[in-house]
Amino acid sequence: MTIDPSTAAFDPLAGLVDRDLLHDLAFVDGQWVGADNGSTFRVDDPATGAEIASVPRMGGAETRRAIEAADRAFLSWRSMTAKQRARILRDWADLMRAHVEDLSLILTVEQGKPLAESRGEIEYAASFLEWFGEEGKRVYGDVIPTPIPGRRIVVLKQPIGVTAGITPWNFPAAMVTRKCAPALAAGNTMVLKPAEQTPLSALAICELAHRAGLPRGVFNVVTGSAEDAPSIGEEMTSNPTVRMLGFTGSTEVGKLLMRRCADSVKKISLELGGNAPFIVFEDADLGVAIDALQACKWRNAGQTCISANRILVQRGVIDEFAARLVEYARGLEVGTGTDEGSQIGPLIDKQGFEKVKAHVAGAIDGGAKVVTGGGPHKLGGLYFEPTVLTDVTPDMVMSCEETFGPVAGLIPFDTEEEAIAIANDTPYGLCAYFFTKDMATGWRVGEALEAGIVGLNTGFVSTEVAPFGGVKESGLGREGSYYAIEEWVETKYFTFAGL
Ligand code: NAP
Repeated sequence: MTIDPSTAAFDPLAGLVDRDLLHDLAFVDGQWVGADNGSTFRVDDPATGAEIASVPRMGGAETRRAIEAADRAFLSWRSMTAKQRARILRDWADLMRAHVEDLSLILTVEQGKPLAESRGEIEYAASFLEWFGEEGKRVYGDVIPTPIPGRRIVVLKQPIGVTAGITPWNFPAAMVTRKCAPALAAGNTMVLKPAEQTPLSALAICELAHRAGLPRGVFNVVTGSAEDAPSIGEEMTSNPTVRMLGFTGSTEVGKLLMRRCADSVKKISLELGGNAPFIVFEDADLGVAIDALQACKWRNAGQTCISANRILVQRGVIDEFAARLVEYARGLEVGTGTDEGSQIGPLIDKQGFEKVKAHVAGAIDGGAKVVTGGGPHKLGGLYFEPTVLTDVTPDMVMSCEETFGPVAGLIPFDTEEEAIAIANDTPYGLCAYFFTKDMATGWRVGEALEAGIVGLNTGFVSTEVAPFGGVKESGLGREGSYYAIEEWVETKYFTFAGL
């Protein structure tokens, strides 16, 4: 069946139990506000192309006012005890869990991923609020033995001040809390801009922050279209009140923001693009490796920064691996995210869809063979067939850039050294996966891979307790775990003399 937007006149959000979670205004200084000139942009359901909401097109002026609100809120928020802040963050997390069905529906309708994945994302998003609320209580300082008589040397960890966050569309809830939770737990305030395609999840999260008792101005969300992003970003990066920017998105935009932050020497944390290798050695359990691809290839239709983008399989098992992978891929259910049976939803937009098509076409031109899939799905719209290609080479575009689609390209290799060389031959270094039963291979390869995150015999690496982040052009800093809260504090050396 081809999905025709003109016949999709039903309301995909009709199932919402708590409709107050659905906001079409931005959240600044504890108020729901529109753009100064009243203009809006549309948010579409990628499953049908139908408009589901329109939200304010804000720019520099509105962002500046949000920064001022965050600045006003900073002193009193910083003065609260970490325990008081943790209580609010805990209540916020509990509210997210209590509204998991509604939040998941909003997320699926604006982003496209299957409901089961959205539920997982909401739990993941809530886990950052809960975990960092507790971790805020452990932002310890230090006392250093003095080399000078009559002195004491103390190290304090203090909040930075007003911070800014910019998030992408592929995890519209989790990327928001992965930034605001450590920032707020440490005593900072924040102004955040969600992606054009997915503002509704961020706004629903604001509604729950408000219900949890987060004081006004502590967390603000400004919305804007892709056209407005440069002016919002310009204000965030040039305003001297903002002392730190946390960004998740493409490497290209990350570099631009990093350059802009240099002028006022802001702290930055960048979670950027990846090009994850997924290496299968001959001794691996092939079933484990194929199951692992559910988490890191087919999940979110391949639209994650840690998606396996280059699947390297040792020559002796590549035919068997390909056959089993094809069988798996053919069994995947493609459909609307709101249909409980769906495993692969639509891609986010036309641009993303065309990129996937172009990567597959480029690989075929270069000699790759399509074993299953290979093109738009018969559902039409933004649906793409789960695709397996063999005879892919490391120099093809799909091996050099993130495909961000449900496409698995198999690259053969012969030796461990060759696999490591191919895996590391990229400017990116976010995540890498490999599969072997041999622990010596495990240590050697794990240490040799140039990536911030390495998964051995698993495709699932995301958890709030571990440091998530990349090396090389995949970013700076870490999100999640106690390493991350360090990003959101300043270290003050405080010395006492004359004692
Ligand atoms: P993107 O184009 O870089 O956009 C990300 C965010 O930046 C959006 O909110 C976007 O706003 C905003 N933006 C774009 N240009 C801007 C500017 N000049 N100033 C200020 N903000 C600007 O990335 P995307 O395509 O949405 O997201 C996919 C990318 O994110 C992939 O590369 C993926 O690997 C990466 N990612 C990384 C991680 C990680 O943890 N490393 C996690 C998830 C995703 P608009 O939407 O309004 O344009």
